[in-house]
Amino acid sequence: MSAVAERLCQIHALIDAAVARSGRPSGAVDLVAVSKTQPPEALREAFAAGQSLFGENRVQEILAKQQLLPSGLRWHLIGPLQSNKVRKVLPRVEMIEAVHSLDIARDINRIAAELGLHPRVLLEVNVAEESSKHGFNAETLKAQLEELYDLDRLYIQGLMCIPPFAADPAKSRPYFVGLRELRDELERCGGAPLPQLSMGMSHDFEVAIEEGATLVRVGTAIFGARG
Ligand SMILES: *Cc1c(COP(=O)(O)O)cnc(C)c1O
Repeated sequence: MSAVAERLCQIHALIDAAVARSGRPSGAVDLVAVSKTQPPEALREAFAAGQSLFGENRVQEILAKQQLLPSGLRWHLIGPLQSNKVRKVLPRVEMIEAVHSLDIARDINRIAAELGLHPRVLLEVNVAEESSKHGFNAETLKAQLEELYDLDRLYIQGLMCIPPFAADPAKSRPYFVGLRELRDELERCGGAPLPQLSMGMSHDFEVAIEEGATLVRVGTAIFGARG
C-alpha cells in the first residue's frame, strides 16, 4: 500500500468515528483531498486508493493538473476566485467553495448564464473577522442574503470557513459551532436549505465533524507537508 493510501485509510477511520459521535449516518461527510502544490503523481496515488474528490486553491493549478490526470477526478475550488478566472474554471469544477463577496457571486452568476451552467457554490464566512482573510462577515451575509438568492444561476448549497489556525483543535470548535448556528439562522430567514458545511482541515477535521461538517478539506494529513 502506498503511504498516501495508508493515510487515507487512517483518516477515513477517524472520519467514521467522528460521524458516529455526531449522531449522523455513515457517509454524511465527504473528504476533499487538498492537493495544492502536490505533484500529479500524489493525486494519482490517492485516486488509485479510491479518493476521487480533490480541492485546489488556484485555478491555473486545477487546469494544469486536469490535463495530466484521468477525467474521473472531481474538483472543488477552495481558494478565492477572481472575476477574470471565472469563465475558465466554471466548466471544470463541481463546486466553488469560497464565494467571498456579492460582487464575485454576481460575476459567477452572469458568466454561468452565458455558459449555460448552474454552478454549485458555498459562501465563505470570515468567522473571526480577520483582515487577512476573505469572506463575508455574518452581518453582511444576512443583509445580502436576498440579493444572493436572486442570482438564479447559483445553487447556493451552504457555508465554508477557515478559522484562525490554532494547534489545539479545541480552539476551532467555537468557530465551527458559530458557522453551524449562522447556517441555521440563514435557513430560517432565507427559507431555503443550506445543507453543506465545509469546515475542518488536517488538524481539526474531527472537531468540525462533531459540530456538523459535511465536507472536510484535508491536505497535509493525506499528502504530507507541502513543498
Ligand atoms: C490548504 C488548505 C486546506 C488544507 O490544509 P491542511 O492543513 O494541509 O489540511 C484546507 N482548506 C483550504 C481553504 C486550504 O487552502
